[in-house]
Amino acid sequence: MNFYILTLFPDMVSQGLNTSIIGRAAGRGLLSIRTVNIRDYAFNKHQSVDDYPYGGGAGMLMQAEPVYLAYEAAAAEIRTRRQECGEQEKKPRVVYLSPQGAVFNQNMAEELAKEKDLIFLCGHYEGIDERVLEEIVTDQVSIGDYVLTGGELPAMVMVDTISRLVPGVLHNDVSAESESFQDNLLEHPQYSRPEVWHGKRVPEVLLSGHHANILKWKREQSILRTKERRPDLLERCALTEQEKAWIEEM
Ligand code: SAM
Repeated sequence: MNFYILTLFPDMVSQGLNTSIIGRAAGRGLLSIRTVNIRDYAFNKHQSVDDYPYGGGAGMLMQAEPVYLAYEAAAAEIRTRRQECGEQEKKPRVVYLSPQGAVFNQNMAEELAKEKDLIFLCGHYEGIDERVLEEIVTDQVSIGDYVLTGGELPAMVMVDTISRLVPGVLHNDVSAESESFQDNLLEHPQYSRPEVWHGKRVPEVLLSGHHANILKWKREQSILRTKERRPDLLERCALTEQEKAWIEEM
């Protein structure tokens, strides 16, 4: 999977994504994470990329042209690679990180993980001139209802989440399938050695070696935890009739 991140702060993004699981997956060629410095496309004397907004208002706005040229550079690279691989030409999806976008979630990550190439556009200051957004952006995504100084952290959040879904990135692919939000359930509690810590015992069933009972316990714990912490999710979860009755009784 190939990520292109258009940003004014490429070091922040590459340093953040170059470590641990994502960094290792990139090292193994499962992911390619390229940053494109928007400032490199500011063809003026001071290499400035921002200007005052028309009509007044606080702060500065990123100008359309450098953003457009940075996008063109990434899109051209994608086009060339597709041609070399004999793949069909396709306009890449361009995600603009914005507090005004649809709120990111696991379903969205799964859908985006099907793409081969993704371009992320990080805003800064007061945002980006609307005209270039209209021209190049296919998806506007927020990571939550709060305002950050830039799109770099949101882009890193999204790249990390999507990368975990790329086959081979996680040590054990099964772990992505049984995690929170899968089937609209939160994950059950987990325990490791020792069996007793600060007087607290690991639940007996997990030591029993009885596979079916362990699975049943995990499913029940997931349902219980989701009911307590995220009842909104549980409403969208496909519970069996038996599970529904069990939950009603509680
Ligand atoms: N003036 C904009 C508004 O009110 O909608 C906010 C601009 S914000 C200070 C600067 C940049 O940070 C945005 O262009 C966007 O790329 C990024 N950003 C801020 N909060 C975000 C969020 N919750 N999710 C995704 N991106 C965000």
